[in-house]
Amino acid sequence: MNHTSRLTQAVIDLDALVKNYQYIDNLARDSNTIAVIKADGYGHDASKVARALSTQVKLFAVGFIDEALALRSDGIDNTVLILEGPFKESDFEIAIENNFSLMLHSDYQIKWLSAMNPEFSGDVWLKVDTGMNRLGFHVDQIDNIMSQLTDKQRNKLVLCSHFSTAEQINSTKPVEQLAKLKQLVSQYGCKFSMANSAGILNWPNSHGDHTRLGLALYGISPVAENPLSQPLIPVMTLQADIIAIHTVKVGEYVGYGDTWQAQRETKLATVAIGYADGYPRNAKSGTPVFINGQIAPLVGRVSMDMITVDITDLNDIFIGNTVELWGKNISIDIVAQNSDTINYELLTRVSKRVPKVIAG
Ligand SMILES: *Cc1c(COP(=O)(O)O)cnc(C)c1O
Repeated sequence: MNHTSRLTQAVIDLDALVKNYQYIDNLARDSNTIAVIKADGYGHDASKVARALSTQVKLFAVGFIDEALALRSDGIDNTVLILEGPFKESDFEIAIENNFSLMLHSDYQIKWLSAMNPEFSGDVWLKVDTGMNRLGFHVDQIDNIMSQLTDKQRNKLVLCSHFSTAEQINSTKPVEQLAKLKQLVSQYGCKFSMANSAGILNWPNSHGDHTRLGLALYGISPVAENPLSQPLIPVMTLQADIIAIHTVKVGEYVGYGDTWQAQRETKLATVAIGYADGYPRNAKSGTPVFINGQIAPLVGRVSMDMITVDITDLNDIFIGNTVELWGKNISIDIVAQNSDTINYELLTRVSKRVPKVIAG
């Protein structure tokens, strides 16, 4: 869609992105900070994010090869780490041609690796399962896996694992997980990577050689109870325009299912965004939006293309005013809490019909 008559947009603040990166990178000073830009850069447009960071980031990470190839077609030439490794044997060839590093987590991938002739020249990272039980080799498999790598591959090897509860500052699980990984790291004398955003912020001992920065890069803190020395800046502002204003009488219902009833004469604004744009259908009446410096509550059900908000108590609101659904004034966490989900899901669900527009 090139014609934009509708002004519903996700505005992306790349200066904020760069500031967040520099701030977190500085917190984990002795390790390399990988920028995780899977899922289209957490919904921010991976190529735009990568371009803004490409001079300071050594390594980007995505989930799978297709995401990395999309970066290459957009002219991003930094090394890319593939977090789920190869899905097909031919992915190894693609990785060599394109300078992708592969995170290997299962025996079938090691078999493909061993079958390569000449040997795979890219960097190999091994995923160790230290207790999340999602992906990775069990600790006691590592010896056997090591024996299947070539000397070159072993010399450059990075051992990785992933926290399951890093955002819980009182949890003992991260300590146990880190200890398991560090035991292997000292045994084999290789590099390691453990920390995601919450790991970086809550568990400094986990920084290691490479951190994997996702959520916090986009200006959202995963560690609500750990105040940061400098606030992160939300990178995405999801916004839409008011396209209609109505006044309804006491007792009138609003929206599908008649879930909200006016308790007083109510002035309503209809805003051009709905669940087809990624605004959650689950959002309850009362979820805040921001208009002209004021807060208004969502009322009634979220429709496919529209929402209605109560502007009775607001001043000077007109058709064509811009409404912020989340961003610098409305925390995405509040919207997530009001719709039984998490910030990660809201960010990555902003749909294709919402243009990602660079701020400024
Ligand atoms: C997505 C992902 C990250 C980034 O996690 P955040 O919580 O967003 O910082 C790190 N490591 C792996 C393996 C991931 O899949």
